[in-house]
Amino acid sequence: MINLVLFGKPGAGKGTQAEFLKTQYNLKHISTGDVFRYNISQGTELGNLAKSYMDKGDLVPDQVTIDMLQAEVDKNPQASGFIFDGFPRTTAQAQALDAFLQTKSMQINACVALEADEDELTKRLLERGKISGRSDDQDESKIRNRFQEYNDKTAPLKDFYQGQNKFYAVDGIGEIAEVTNRIAAVIDNL
Ligand code: AMP
Repeated sequence: MINLVLFGKPGAGKGTQAEFLKTQYNLKHISTGDVFRYNISQGTELGNLAKSYMDKGDLVPDQVTIDMLQAEVDKNPQASGFIFDGFPRTTAQAQALDAFLQTKSMQINACVALEADEDELTKRLLERGKISGRSDDQDESKIRNRFQEYNDKTAPLKDFYQGQNKFYAVDGIGEIAEVTNRIAAVIDNL
């Protein structure tokens, strides 16, 4: 079983890469952002709560996100491994994920970080916003706030996974297939 954390700033290509990797390695892809957006589209209580944070580019509170992630994992008992995309985003989430996986005799094998600079990512997000209609991709001040949230709360996870010898940085700039190959090289060496 392989369990991966795909790590990186908004727009780094986590979702795009997960789509390729899940097929290549037969993994279940869980994107917390996608699950929140699905709940928003269905008008659920979770969706309404998440929307109030996502609309501003703020992180959704930890316990709400952790409970939702655990429910998604529990829905897939047959999975031969998971790609966690956009989770964990805080140290509390990373600790909760480790503890949760341990109860299932599972663990994170690698945290793969897609690296790209903020100017490039802002351009990508604004382009994506035109196609996806995502309101948090269409407004530069919301994008800046998402980077701020990342730098304050998510960036420290690099140390968390480095401390476990599980952190691998990959250059996230280039053709999609090129980046997939860089990530595959990391996975194949685990
Ligand atoms: P994403 O699709 O990963 O860019 O996530 C979109 C938004 O969903 C984020 O800006 C947050 O508001 C929320 N979100 C997604 N994943 C998490 C998480 N792990 N913790 C808190 N908020 C999250």
